Amino acid sequence: MRAKRSKQYKKLIQQYQLHHGFREPYQVLVDADLVHDAERFTMDLQAGLERTLHGKVKIMITQCCIRHLYSKNKEPGVNRAIDLAKTFERRRCGHRPDDFAEALSTLDCLSHVVDEKGRGENKHRYVVATQDQNVRRYMRTVSGVPLIYINRSVMIMEPMSETTAKVGASAERAKFRSELRKSTSETTGEKRKRDDSDDNDNDNEDNDDDASGDDDKSAKVDKVDKSEEKKKKKKAFGVKGPNPLSVKKKKKPTAPGGSAKPKTADDGAPKKKRIRKHKAQPADGAAPATAEVSAEA
Ligand SMILES: [Zn+2]
Repeated sequence: MRAKRSKQYKKLIQQYQLHHGFREPYQVLVDADLVHDAERFTMDLQAGLERTLHGKVKIMITQCCIRHLYSKNKEPGVNRAIDLAKTFERRRCGHRPDDFAEALSTLDCLSHVVDEKGRGENKHRYVVATQDQNVRRYMRTVSGVPLIYINRSVMIMEPMSETTAKVGASAERAKFRSELRKSTSETTGEKRKRDDSDDNDNDNEDNDDDASGDDDKSAKVDKVDKSEEKKKKKKAFGVKGPNPLSVKKKKKPTAPGGSAKPKTADDGAPKKKRIRKHKAQPADGAAPATAEVSAEA
């Protein structure tokens, strides 16, 4: 079970790498409750995150989130959580105590930090580790935000949100198209063949996944590209194909033509020989006989 989950997470983070530009060390934004829970369950937060994300991580905490910890410092175990949080990189969210008498809620702070411009993009490629369900619900609407939480001392990474998966799928299609264009401009025949088979597979996947109008169009575009490619290929083969055949045919006439100069002398001789052979075939000894005769003469 555990190994299976680990495998799933590895696949997940690979998707984030492929389509959303995630790179190690992964920047993980943690909230106050998650740090507190990690302390309560005596989890090694750094190690747990690195196991879950299958790579190096840089844990970060916003000014607001660390203020949440300070505000609860009378609760048991929070002081240790504060000590731990102090070792993390502080993410300046800009919500300074001078301007905000009270720290912003985790939702308000993290939504501002992750999606600064409110475009539904995770520009800085943060992983968000939060115990707050509302925060996770919001982050699912932002594309490309890996989400982590702790459930009874078990670290969980959420499956990719629909918003994120959609972006990934369209990014994948765009990639295929650009690769197709590349492959048509390449001149090596073998590489083209391999690309072709890959693209066919991926096209099928696309068609299975979604049937929206845009997708159909893109699939058609791909097909057109491919048919063009095939035409080009056929032409290439066509040029190659007839040449060896025609060259062979030409060689036969050219050979006697080429030897025509020396044959001027021999021309008469082979013809006579052939005639002799026909006549001589029943009596094969005739030829040597004539030779003998000539020798005798
Ligand atoms: Zn803040």
